[in-house]
Amino acid sequence: LRPQPSDIEIAQAATLQKLIPLASRRLGIPEDELSPYGHYKAKLSLQHIASLKARPNGHLVLVTAITPTPPGEGKTTTTVGLGDGLNLIGKNTIICLREPSLGPCFGMKGGAAGGGHAQVVPMEDINLHFTGDFHAIALANNLLAALIDNHIHHGNALEIDQRRISWKRVVDMNDRALRDIVVALGGPGNGYPRQDGFDIVVASEVMAILCLANSLTDLKRRLGSIVIGYTSDNQPVTACQLQADGAMAALLKDALAPNLVQTLGGNLAFIHGGPFANIAHGCNSVMATQAALKLADYVVTEAGFGADLGAEKFIDIKCRKAGLRPSAAVLVATVRALQYHGGADPKLASSATLNTLRKGLANLDRHVENVRTHYGLPCIVSINRFSSDTPDEIALIEAHCAALDVRCVLATHWSDGGAGAQDLAHAVVAACESGAAQTGFLYDDNLGLLDKIRTVATKIYRAAEVTADPKVLSQLSEWEALGYRHLPVCIAKTQYSFSTDPKLRAAPSGHTLNVREVRLAAGAEFIVAVCGDIMTMPGLPKAPSAQRIDVDGQGRISGLF
Ligand code: ADP
Ligand code: MG
Repeated sequence: LRPQPSDIEIAQAATLQKLIPLASRRLGIPEDELSPYGHYKAKLSLQHIASLKARPNGHLVLVTAITPTPPGEGKTTTTVGLGDGLNLIGKNTIICLREPSLGPCFGMKGGAAGGGHAQVVPMEDINLHFTGDFHAIALANNLLAALIDNHIHHGNALEIDQRRISWKRVVDMNDRALRDIVVALGGPGNGYPRQDGFDIVVASEVMAILCLANSLTDLKRRLGSIVIGYTSDNQPVTACQLQADGAMAALLKDALAPNLVQTLGGNLAFIHGGPFANIAHGCNSVMATQAALKLADYVVTEAGFGADLGAEKFIDIKCRKAGLRPSAAVLVATVRALQYHGGADPKLASSATLNTLRKGLANLDRHVENVRTHYGLPCIVSINRFSSDTPDEIALIEAHCAALDVRCVLATHWSDGGAGAQDLAHAVVAACESGAAQTGFLYDDNLGLLDKIRTVATKIYRAAEVTADPKVLSQLSEWEALGYRHLPVCIAKTQYSFSTDPKLRAAPSGHTLNVREVRLAAGAEFIVAVCGDIMTMPGLPKAPSAQRIDVDGQGRISGLF
């Protein structure tokens, strides 16, 4: 394989088409229904999306992955490549992705708009500010925070217990100094001092709400249902009681409209919403996915992290709530991650042998089984080809998949663009047309909250048991008594293992899932079960990528990757 320029160099060398004519020609959207944000980004009107209701849905294809290593195994890249590949073989396809967060962009991960010749563009805009959705979300979130402190300052008629306020302020930045702070210092004019903290925007419940709402009315209803804390006699206090929902929804009116951009292959992509895949459900917005399903025959979308996390939440939260029925799943695998699961040391190339690779395949097996039996989806393994992969390694994975009777395709979209994903595209079409998908959910709405957690833990993670402090158990029963029993659960755990121990590679079983803490997201309509350490306000690394990002006198950005 030839050496290749960096992601940003490839993106900047591309000739982009004017987006509005492209979208109206390709998707038949009247130009008036698209609001331009410059020449290459636009928002699709909510009215137009509502007008598409009677149309049939296209096929929904989920891109997920085996248990990843820290840099990621290429789900976004594969989503873009597969979308371009499907369009190349004549299938009208739109991709749906999440909007990147500025935190990881300035931290470790760089951009999140795909990679190599499989990217969405303009990648600099998509990675930096984009159409301002995240700023609107931060503002709506922080308006509620300001209204809470203001309510207390002016007499606290609702008798909010200041020690039990769970609503935090947010900013779209990795800033560890804001994790635990004290607000309202400086005397009586500034309110009542209390312990507070910031989360990153993508961890905000407002982000999850925006991504799960199916109309402006639904958005407002959900915002009103947010529980910000409790009164001194332990009753939940909602955003509606603080009369915050109307103004929050007004701030989010434009953010709710999906953003349209193009891929390097000249095809259309919705990039909308970006909830974390731990504390939230890790999928792009329902508005965008539903619009795409009406506008295209195939919709390819990504869910965060591995198939134990993002895919489970995609099915049990997003699809359940939005009535979506996916047709197939693509499981992205890399030699590097399989080697890692087999025990190879990522820093020591010589430790990666065919034997370690063979051992690492246990991780792939587990995910394939989960996708097929528990999510009920035809599964296609897509090997995301890296230039360091050897023919022996690829052959070993292919032979293993043949023995498992799972379709396995080598995909080279990172180096070849959509042409490198044509085989994958054909395999996906065959899987969708087979009609074999039988999406069920992992659990029923009416199962108890702890039993829902136990179901995911035992069936998907293969834990032997779930443990929790009495405090956590009584919190769950209190919420059940308050009418939240029907909610799905959103499990926040490490993405690096089926267990809660990131060091347990491959396919651990018989482990214990300890629920450390539970959180109610009454507006997003799920219960978060925090298992192990999770970060809702990341920090920057010692040499953050922010120090390499620059802009020249002509406005040309460098250093994003
Ligand atoms: P995920 O969505 O699973 O987290 P991404 O698609 O964002 O992963 O890819 C993670 C990083 O790896 C990106 O910077 C991307 O450019 C790079 N990458 C993806 N596929 C390849 C490949 N085949 N060869 C080299 N780098 C790749
Ligand atoms: Mg991704």
